[in-house]
Order: sequence, then C-alpha cells, then structure tokens
Amino acid sequence: MGMVIKIKGAQQVWPGGVIAHEFADGWSADGKSKVLQAMRDWTEATGGLVTFPEHSNQKFYIRITNPQQSRCALGFNGQSEIECQIKDDANVYVTALHELGHCMGLGHEQLRDDTPAEVMLNIARAQSDGSERGVAFQMEIIRSLIQMKKSDYVKVGGFDKASIMLYASDAKRISDGDVASAKQLYGTSA
Ligand SMILES: [Zn+2]
Repeated sequence: MGMVIKIKGAQQVWPGGVIAHEFADGWSADGKSKVLQAMRDWTEATGGLVTFPEHSNQKFYIRITNPQQSRCALGFNGQSEIECQIKDDANVYVTALHELGHCMGLGHEQLRDDTPAEVMLNIARAQSDGSERGVAFQMEIIRSLIQMKKSDYVKVGGFDKASIMLYASDAKRISDGDVASAKQLYGTSA
C-alpha cells in the first residue's frame, strides 16, 4: 500500500499533522491554485489528519518554490523553514501530490523490497536511453537503492501500483494505499 519513513524520533512527522505553507515569488495563478487543490485533496483524503494552513505564526512551515526540478525533504526535520520544490508546469497538480507526500513522510513506492520486477523494468526504461545496457544499469541502481534505503522505511500493506509515490506510473490521484500510508504516520493509532 505504501512506504513511509521509519519513525525514530518525534521529529519526523509534522506536529499535529499541521504543515503550514507559503509560496515563493514567481508562481503562476493557475499553478498556485493547483498546488492548493493538491493540499485540499490530501487533507480530505486523510479525513483532516494532515492540514496545510497558510503560514502565519507557525514556527515550522514549508516554502514552496518553483524551480525546474521537483523535490521535497522527506518528512519533518525540525528546521523552521523547509523548502519544497514543485515545478510549475502542465503536471503541477500531480507533482504537488507527490512532493507533498514526501513532505508528509511518504517514500517512493518503488523502493519497497517487494516491488515487482516488471515495475522496476518500466522505471529503468523510463530513466535510461532505452538501450539494453542503459536499462540494465538503471535496474542495478534501483536494486541497490532498495537495499540502501531498507532500514529507513516501514512498508505499509502490499505493493501499490496506483500510488502517487511510484515512478513511471500514470497515477493522477491519491490512492487508497497512499491514504493508508499517511494514516500510519498521522493517524491516532500511530
Ligand atoms: Zn519523489
């Protein structure tokens, strides 16, 4: 269903599930509204366990920038301001769902040790020039990453092909597995 960071201390999930946000300059109105939509959709999907209020007096918050690459720190790390990079293009809604997932503490689904070989192969193809050597090389990278990251994550349920956190997939919305992962981190039982 997903994969989430292994909680080793209190400082890995956002206190109270509250992820205050502010936008850096340079966002298009449309891009901004799609990121805000992604935030509302995460809040709704988790039944309000995770919220993204506009930054006012909260000590901890994310600052959303829009460079050419998308990336966001994994989980909460105790820094006052955490940068979340989301590329403002035609895919901005899906990118925002994915990057906000990282921000909450969700890892890449393909880094689970039970990722099906054909899924790894799809990703390896997408990340290489498509040549046999290129694909084989990328497969090795994925396999070694899985080994390397094993101790940092906890698996939630079974492998989820529909996860928004899976590379080279056509997922366009938060899956049930993504919700289960978020609830593992922010649910009352966690
Ligand atoms: Zn990612």
